[in-house]
Amino acid sequence: MQFMTHTIGVIGLGNMGRNMAATLVKKSFTVIGFDLSETARKQAVEQGVIPASQLSILTEQCDIIILSLPKAEHVEAVCLGANGLIHLVTAGTTIIDTTTSVPETSRMVAAECVKRDIAFLDAPVSGGPAGAAAGTMSMVIGGDMKAYRHVLPVLEAMSSVRVHVGDVGAGNIAKIANNMLAAAHLITTAEALTLAEKAGVDPEKVLEAINAGSGRSAASQAMFPTWVMTKAYDSGFTMGLMRKDVGLAKTLAQSLNVELPMAMKSAELWEDSIHKLADSDDFCCIAQCTNPLLFGKEDNA
Ligand code: NAD
Repeated sequence: MQFMTHTIGVIGLGNMGRNMAATLVKKSFTVIGFDLSETARKQAVEQGVIPASQLSILTEQCDIIILSLPKAEHVEAVCLGANGLIHLVTAGTTIIDTTTSVPETSRMVAAECVKRDIAFLDAPVSGGPAGAAAGTMSMVIGGDMKAYRHVLPVLEAMSSVRVHVGDVGAGNIAKIANNMLAAAHLITTAEALTLAEKAGVDPEKVLEAINAGSGRSAASQAMFPTWVMTKAYDSGFTMGLMRKDVGLAKTLAQSLNVELPMAMKSAELWEDSIHKLADSDDFCCIAQCTNPLLFGKEDNA
């Protein structure tokens, strides 16, 4: 019951953070939000979030703080920068970082936090803006079990599935492994439908068949039906962010000297897509690199 009136801070009010904040508001938490972008702050206000014009206003009132930032470098700056969280929050605060980030950054930030009695969990998410808005995300969490239990009511309000995978950094390792697969599945599903179409069979029917068979994945079951075949391309997850995630997998594999030939081919295709697709394009547009006629928007005209 104590949590029903708890004030939660959310830093980063973009496609994911804004919707997570809105979900917490709907579930009776008081939410204070901060974003560098005034537009993002205004959009969050429309969903019941109290805006903070600077970080210190948020940290004065919140001892549970959620981060939803683009990249590891933003997490490092927000937490450890000159005016960062470690200088502002009170001892006993818990930071829940939902950013898809670099495991080493999570460990480094957590190590600095622990010196000041601040807990840091890496808790990247799946489910997109729709899952964040519905409170049905999946979360993979790394970090101290006591801190995890402490914030569990907040995590439960935002997600339907939570897997505590290990020490801090483990959440991001799990997320990177997951997105490495999702990135490859988007391409292989586009290739499978291209093969079927060239062989004279309706790709819509083949997608239905794949989803009843062993080749199915989230790409075939959710991404293709919702955003590719409809040509809506409005998932709320960008090419830029998925290219980042594929890059994180490649860097992690190289740092560990692990050979992953299939994943490296996928990484090459995602990297090459920069010549055709902008960072701001929807990540499902990668299908257009395999088959611009079948999956391109112009085909819809
Ligand atoms: P986004 O770009 O829509 O939002 C990020 C927000 O952070 C922006 O509003 C930006 O202004 C703000 N920001 C940047 N630096 C800041 C700072 N120093 N202080 C305060 N605010 C700052 O990104 P998103 O799609 O919401 O993704 C957020 C994270 O979640 C990323 O790491 C992404 O990889 C991950 N993710 C996204 C999705 C998705 O479907 N969009 C799904 C799963 C995971």
